[in-house]
Amino acid sequence: MRVLITGGAGFIGSHLSDAYIERGDEVYVIDDLSTGSIENIQHLKNNPSFHYTIESVGNHQVLAELVDQCDVIFHLAAAVGVKLIVESPVRTIETNVHGTEVVLNLANKKKKKVLIASTSEVYGLSTEVPFREDGNLVMGATIKGRWSYACSKAIDEFLALAYWREKKLPTIVVRLFNTVGPRQTGQYGMVIPTFVKQALSGRPITVYGDGKQSRCFGYVGDVVGALVNLMDNREAVGQVFNIGSSQEVTILELAQRVKEMANSSSEIVFVPYDEAYEEGFEDMPRRVPDISKVSALVGFSPRMSLDGILQSVINYYSGRR
Ligand code: UDP
Repeated sequence: MRVLITGGAGFIGSHLSDAYIERGDEVYVIDDLSTGSIENIQHLKNNPSFHYTIESVGNHQVLAELVDQCDVIFHLAAAVGVKLIVESPVRTIETNVHGTEVVLNLANKKKKKVLIASTSEVYGLSTEVPFREDGNLVMGATIKGRWSYACSKAIDEFLALAYWREKKLPTIVVRLFNTVGPRQTGQYGMVIPTFVKQALSGRPITVYGDGKQSRCFGYVGDVVGALVNLMDNREAVGQVFNIGSSQEVTILELAQRVKEMANSSSEIVFVPYDEAYEEGFEDMPRRVPDISKVSALVGFSPRMSLDGILQSVINYYSGRR
């Protein structure tokens, strides 16, 4: 199979590339390196089954050719990371909405199956925990920059589902819940790489708010397995799937665990949200996926424990230092 991965030099995209290369497939990556990094795909560059193009998905001609060459498309190219979103809302909205529009439009011309990566962020302020795919999405006010990400991704979802209903383009939507593991950068605000780097360097570990907010962290290897299986499954078409772990942890507990596992002398400090992001910033107090749908269809069950995940990230950053 020839697989096109937009955002293939990113954290999740590069692990997905690894999975397909291991399976013996041909991988084509398009990435503008805005948040991805060439380092993530360095080890694949000399593999004859791996091809990469440094370009934005907004370049129709280049993308059209890649779509032509491939059998299936994973659209992972997007502006991600709460920090990046709050700081660059224009870039977030334009990249996420326009990029997906171009990918779906070109895929439709050749009727190539597309999997669109969405996010748990779309559940917004919903309190219907655990979140189900058919549950309500509760958006915050438009004056709060954070919600532009959820809205842009919700539009991507609508568009992907509309292409299936109206034009019979096979599309699949996945909502990824706090995916973590080696190669994820803390540069755009993600908590685990940030805490691990702080702990390893002895700098204060910055818990935002009171640290009582919780998340479920899914290991990238588990998540990528689900993406591959969903792409292979005919019944996944035209549907939305949550993918993540159901092991919940508060951010304060996470900070303590990272400190302990990294043998760190770092102090744990509390930083108000207004200071960490922007005035009036709204966080999600809990974010837990209901993963019964993806489990029932492709037998998804997260294997890596939180400690296993933290160890893998600690090893990754220790190696780099
Ligand atoms: N967070 C934190 N300290 C940091 C970075 C993030 O306490 O240095 C918190 C953040 O406020 C959120 C949680 O960790 O409650 C997860 O943040 P992340 O950006 O990784 O993902 P999110 O779930 O917000 O998309």
